[in-house]
Amino acid sequence: MLEEGTGTDLEGTLAAMLGTSLPQKIIELHQTARDFADEVLIPAADLHDREESFPADNVERLAKLGFMGILAPSQYGGLDLGNLALTVVLEEINRGCASTGVTLSVHNSLLSSPILHFGSQEQHARYFPRLASGEALGAYAITEPDHGSDAAAIETTCRREGDEWVLNGTKAWITNGSYADIIVTFATMDPSLRSRGISAFVIEKSMPGFSVGKKEKKLGIRGSDTVQLIFDEMRVPAQNLLGEEGQGFKIAMHTLDGGRIGIASQAIGIAQACLDEMVDFSETHEMFGRKLADNQLVSHKIAELATRLDAARLLTRRAAIMKDAGLSHSGEASMAKLNASEVANDAARMALEVLGGAGIGRQSSVERLFRDAKITEIYEGTSQIQSLVISRHVRSVRG
Ligand SMILES: Cc1cc2nc3c(=O)[nH]c(=O)nc-3n(C[C@H](O)[C@H](O)[C@H](O)COP(=O)(O)OP(=O)(O)OC[C@H]3O[C@@H](n4cnc5c(N)ncnc54)[C@H](O)[C@@H]3O)c2cc1C
Repeated sequence: MLEEGTGTDLEGTLAAMLGTSLPQKIIELHQTARDFADEVLIPAADLHDREESFPADNVERLAKLGFMGILAPSQYGGLDLGNLALTVVLEEINRGCASTGVTLSVHNSLLSSPILHFGSQEQHARYFPRLASGEALGAYAITEPDHGSDAAAIETTCRREGDEWVLNGTKAWITNGSYADIIVTFATMDPSLRSRGISAFVIEKSMPGFSVGKKEKKLGIRGSDTVQLIFDEMRVPAQNLLGEEGQGFKIAMHTLDGGRIGIASQAIGIAQACLDEMVDFSETHEMFGRKLADNQLVSHKIAELATRLDAARLLTRRAAIMKDAGLSHSGEASMAKLNASEVANDAARMALEVLGGAGIGRQSSVERLFRDAKITEIYEGTSQIQSLVISRHVRSVRG
């Protein structure tokens, strides 16, 4: 299958590298996601951005396509297709609308994934039917007003009282926060223990003591929902502990490794949209007696971006394949995110240069893509944090 805009048969190449053909189901899913992006997402993306409106209609339609359950077990109505499938779908959804894309990414890779990996059979049976069907939306809440990169320093507390845990604290910058029904969150039994004191919980918005705080106004992905969550003596049943007591930090980091593959896919989608805009504009605009695309400086930009975009896809799909194979993929996920987010930001800058004034105006989607690209370098670990993870990974494999 051809990758739109680049002319490269990446899926065929990957299949050859793997020595197998990609499952037909992933190929079909890719086509469905591509059509959905072209027909539904692209026409509405600027409106959601301008009005800062949550794309609830898009999310409902994603659920009908089965995309809310890409990782969920098939016995609970999920597609159970794994992270390579999720990556391929997220590239397309984010090509169409990054606000919708992050909503989908968080639901699958930050909420469904930790429940799948660390949840009990009882938690699977309780949550996956609603998550897979899209009846319930998911979120992941670790960041706090004073603690982002240093997640081991979180101050939200948990204490055990009989058959319940009681949580107190504030989470900040939580994607999907006001629409989410089910949230994976983290709290410490003793802040002085740092990472060793943290436990993970599956909470529900109906739990007593849960409320939604202020909504963030953002530079980009303005249609996505980003809010504070407040836990005030929030009562959480003991059976909602995720994994073991004190295992929360490990769960948080393992989950972010997968989430970073999702954000790398988002960056690729944004970069692809920029490349498409650049090619369309330069093919249809003439100046100095020839098509803009025939200008060597412009064709150089197109060639450079197409090459870097394919490289970003391969790095990202490698990380997804490693995750699906159960291999350690922390360094590879960080490489994928660090690289893809840089490509997305360079792509947006190049597209603006090629479109000139037409790209700066708010009638152009390039202006939105330029703002959306920036966030990929910040959430789920900034680029500086990805560099730290990668350098630790390089040193550890050298022994
Ligand atoms: C739109 C949006 C959505 C988000 N969604 C979620 C969500 O759903 N759930 C959630 O839990 N969080 C979410 N976040 C939070 C996000 O993950 C954090 O913003 C991110 O981890 C960075 O933390 P911070 O903003 O507190 O920056 P800080 O940690 O305060 O960092 C500030 C600066 O210091 C740099 N820095 C920090 N440590 C080092 C170091 N050791 N070496 C060099 N430089 C360093 C950082 O790179 C950064 O440039 C979201 C954020 C945004 C903006």
